[in-house]
Amino acid sequence: MQGKETGGVLIVTGGSRGIGAATALRAARDGWAVLVNYSADSAAAEAVVRDITAGGGRAVAARGNVAQEGEVIALFDAAERALGPVTGLVNNAGILDRATSFAEIETGRWQRIFDINATGSFLAAREAVRRMGAAGRGGAIVNLSSMAAPLGGAHEFVDYAATKGAVESMTIGLSREVARQGIRVNAVRPGLIETDMQGASGDPDRARRLAEGVPMGRPGTAQEVAEAVCWLLSGAASYVTGAILPVSGGR
Ligand code: NAP
Repeated sequence: MQGKETGGVLIVTGGSRGIGAATALRAARDGWAVLVNYSADSAAAEAVVRDITAGGGRAVAARGNVAQEGEVIALFDAAERALGPVTGLVNNAGILDRATSFAEIETGRWQRIFDINATGSFLAAREAVRRMGAAGRGGAIVNLSSMAAPLGGAHEFVDYAATKGAVESMTIGLSREVARQGIRVNAVRPGLIETDMQGASGDPDRARRLAEGVPMGRPGTAQEVAEAVCWLLSGAASYVTGAILPVSGGR
């Protein structure tokens, strides 16, 4: 079933690699025109745009730090100028730091993680609902949470887990606030997914090392997460809002 959101204009924050890149490519196949955001690696973002346009889709790349209010607003302006009115947002940009005990976490580290993962998602979601709501056009927002939110990240990254807890509370509250404006807000909770992010923990093999504890016995792929995100974006999920969908192999 094709819904009204599908075929609109989508912003994917952190769309240059990993889950964001897989989501941008998958969404383009559903008919979304995509703004592929990145913070540093323009070549990676341009490669995603080339893949989309080679397949007949529409896409542009745009640099912008999601932790900076002005840069988030500029992303929406750029998307509207290049592609048209924004009707979809995937709050995907996120960072992780090295696995460490809570007692050893430095203040600057958790401030940086909260700025990008939590404040960044809040800034983009607020800009999205301002524009989707004012125009009466409605839309769909999908936030990337993590299984770390309910599990807590003990001995590794309690700070990262807590940013995802904030993203989940925002998903629930915002979904209820804007439901009657035709804006749906949902989240996915990926488990252990094989992307560059695992390397940021200090152990690039982390996903495979911990796979034994996953009921399905393996890590997931960025593509498997992208499928769930794109379903929540689509009109096929037209009666789904405030949902938090685990994509975690049963973990
Ligand atoms: P990744 O491979 O490390 O990619 C991160 C992306 O975010 C890159 O495109 C990066 O762009 C961008 N980015 C980083 N900081 C940014 C900023 N300040 N502003 C804008 N873009 C920024 O990550 P991933 O594994 O695909 O994770 C994507 C999302 O899924 C994150 O929210 C993560 O927390 C969540 N997640 C991942 C896993 C997992 O196991 N991988 C599990 C649960 C949840 P540049 O390269 O240009 O910096």
